[in-house]
Amino acid sequence: MNRSLHSGEDTHLQQALSFAPIGAFLSDMEGNCFFVNKEWEKISGLSFAASQGKGWQKIVLEEDLPEIITTIQKSEYPFVLNYRIVHPQKGLRYFRVDAIRVTDGSGHNSYITGYVQDTTEEKNAEGRQTELTKHLQALITSLEDIVFEIDGNQTFRNVWVYDDSLLYMPRETFLGKKIQDVIGPQATAFSNVVAEVVKTGEVREIVYKHFEESRNQWFRARIKPVIKAPDPADYIMVLSIQDITASRMAESSLQDIKSRLELANQLLDVSQELSQTGGWELNLHTGEVFWTRHTYLIYDVAPDFVPSFDSMLSFYEEEYRPIINSFREAAISQRKAYDIELRIITAKQVRKWIRVIGVPVIKDEEVVMIRGALMDITKRKEDELELIMAKNIAEDAARAKSDFLSIMSHEIRTPLNGIIGIANLLKLNYMPDQEEYISNLLFSADHLLQLINDILDLNKMEQDKLDLTHAEVSLSDLVKNIQNQFKSLASAKGLELISQIDKEIPRRIIADPIRLGQILNNLVSNAIKYTEKGTVTISLQQVSRLKDKTTVHFSIKDTGIGIPKEHHETVFESFRQVQQSAVRKQAGTGLGLTITQKLITLHNSHIYIDSTPGVGTEFHFDLVFDLPTKKNKPPKRVQITELSPYIKKFKGIRLLFVEDNPINIMVAEKQLEYFGILPDCAQCGEDALELLKENTYDVAFVDLHMPEMDGYTLSQIIRNQYSEIHIVIFTADIMPEVRRKFARMGIFDILNKPFFPREMLSTLLKIAQIKKMDIGV
Ligand code: ATP
Ligand code: MG
Repeated sequence: MNRSLHSGEDTHLQQALSFAPIGAFLSDMEGNCFFVNKEWEKISGLSFAASQGKGWQKIVLEEDLPEIITTIQKSEYPFVLNYRIVHPQKGLRYFRVDAIRVTDGSGHNSYITGYVQDTTEEKNAEGRQTELTKHLQALITSLEDIVFEIDGNQTFRNVWVYDDSLLYMPRETFLGKKIQDVIGPQATAFSNVVAEVVKTGEVREIVYKHFEESRNQWFRARIKPVIKAPDPADYIMVLSIQDITASRMAESSLQDIKSRLELANQLLDVSQELSQTGGWELNLHTGEVFWTRHTYLIYDVAPDFVPSFDSMLSFYEEEYRPIINSFREAAISQRKAYDIELRIITAKQVRKWIRVIGVPVIKDEEVVMIRGALMDITKRKEDELELIMAKNIAEDAARAKSDFLSIMSHEIRTPLNGIIGIANLLKLNYMPDQEEYISNLLFSADHLLQLINDILDLNKMEQDKLDLTHAEVSLSDLVKNIQNQFKSLASAKGLELISQIDKEIPRRIIADPIRLGQILNNLVSNAIKYTEKGTVTISLQQVSRLKDKTTVHFSIKDTGIGIPKEHHETVFESFRQVQQSAVRKQAGTGLGLTITQKLITLHNSHIYIDSTPGVGTEFHFDLVFDLPTKKNKPPKRVQITELSPYIKKFKGIRLLFVEDNPINIMVAEKQLEYFGILPDCAQCGEDALELLKENTYDVAFVDLHMPEMDGYTLSQIIRNQYSEIHIVIFTADIMPEVRRKFARMGIFDILNKPFFPREMLSTLLKIAQIKKMDIGV
């Protein structure tokens, strides 16, 4: 292209453009520039010279250039070009070009003329606008809300929502319409709230369920006035709707958990109340202490009291504090749980007994907490102490009773010894008319002795101090003896007394004849006592038999007055006589059955009663007996029936008699004399020691209870210094511990006061045997 061809025209144009307030240029159809004005130089930052030819292209952004070139080449009509340049000072700028193709008068030459504007400012503003829209949209989306614009006439003006499917209906069906006309059944509720917003100018909320009943979905609508204009058409409100289903669910499950926790707490409270137990926890890291409600009650502190380990400790009595500390330390270092009973003084100064249980809580191999329970055990503790006291009192009483009986036994037995002794002496030598007196005297004395023995037996049994002895016994002989004993009594009342003894029962068995005799005696005596006519039957039946054992069933049956059912238990109580008032009260103390029952228990058995008032009574029980073998055969006792063969037979025995009671001395002297012994008598221990120094004795009869030196001491001295002397303890004290005590000293012969001449004789016989004396009988 040759631009000089039309230089005249160019020049005019160039001059016109030079001062235009807008950038302008002229170029050929290839884009070679041959003119730019001053404004162009300004907005492009490129000089006239630098712009010439293709110089202007240097500042155009490379990627925008091809489009510029093709647009210029194709341009038939006016065209617009937007492109970017890099201004040497201002950086990136947006340019807009409005250009036109011009052909000269000849019609051969064409060129392009155009205006250039820097549109950077416009462009930026536009960009900002888009950004803003984007943000707004994002914001709405992120809210997961639907936002409506409503005017004061309650018309929907606009809606924003990130997903149109959240709307109940296509937006065009409600936009421009009124609430009342589009939203169905809930419209009135909404409409009222919107009206209120308009009226008050305040924000209002409404929570509602999904319009479709079946969908468990909840929403909250919030209506806020934005532009408060007097004309309802200009009044603008925003109505935002939020799906609150999830938070509602969370809230209701939270509520659920809360109420369950409350219930659990109430239950804990009730159970702690009932068990009088509080809970506690000590956090070893933070030192924090937690108490349950009942713990506060136990310590008598207000609910706002702030517990700590030290404040807890201060409630404990001084002496218990180190104990708690040491248990706490053991719980931490040795992981030991504890359960202790301590005393506290509460905030209200009340003394209480407390049981504290603590258990270490281990986390990651470390004791992090001690947790436990606290119980008010004051009541139990007091009861316990009371019980101990009551037990002590009862024990004291029992001891006092036992002591009393032991003393009484001694005190009564001593004079009784005199009575029985003298009566027996009289029996050895009496006038014919005295016989009845003597036998009555002996019977009474015997009865009295029996009574004392019963009381003592009972006492012994109550204290488990009665031991059974073992001897070879013939049951049939024993029963025959008893039958003989009661024969006259029975026939005096016109009663028949029968004994039936099973032939299968072994002839000899091992038993305690005294105690067995006592059992039968009591039962037969009762049967006769409480029967007016008919029969009393003693029957023995073997129920089982082993090689070395036999079990025998004993029955004592009468046809007497009987015992009413309600008394079947009480008849076994001490001092209990249960006879109906119609029946004359029988003599007796009411001890017989008590002793009998206890004796049978001592034989590891049980006594049963069958009785019908007016028909009769049967007492029955089973006893197991060992059979004699070579091993358990007890030594045979000499049966003494008559005393007379032994008159003066023990002449050679040198006997020391120590006794403080003159009557006893007199009786014993006389009896010993009968057997040919002239004893040396001492009235106290010291006298005895004197006699021992001067004389030699074979035997010493030593009384137990004497003033100053008692029988134990004296016996010990004799044992140690005169070991050849055979000691016989002569005592009214029949408690078993006495026997045991002497047994430990190696003294086995005890002559109980009051004694019968027969017993004295058997002791003498034993001594004679030991001393190898020939008594010639
Ligand atoms: P004790 O035996 O001490 O001299 P007791 O015979 O009255 O006196 P128990 O032998 O303990 O005392 O008997 C207690 C009571 O049982 C008797 O008083 C009597 O009422 C009743 N009892 C005992 N045996 C019979 C019986 N065979 N028939 C009817 N009642 C009996
Ligand atoms: Mg009786």
